[in-house]
Amino acid sequence: MSRDRNPCIVCGLVHPEGITVWRAFICRRCEREMVRTDVHDERYRYFVQRMRRILWKKDA
Ligand SMILES: [Zn+2]
Repeated sequence: MSRDRNPCIVCGLVHPEGITVWRAFICRRCEREMVRTDVHDERYRYFVQRMRRILWKKDA
């Protein structure tokens, strides 16, 4: 079985390792950063925005 190499929804780069959330791929690096990022950080809002886009995109 061949693995799809989806680009990370946050940084847009294709990484070999990462997690899939809501059918969206997030690379290891961005996942770690998200965990470390404070909710009040502007970056966090950016992450959430990217993920929301995936959530609303029901067709796939
Ligand atoms: Zn990434």
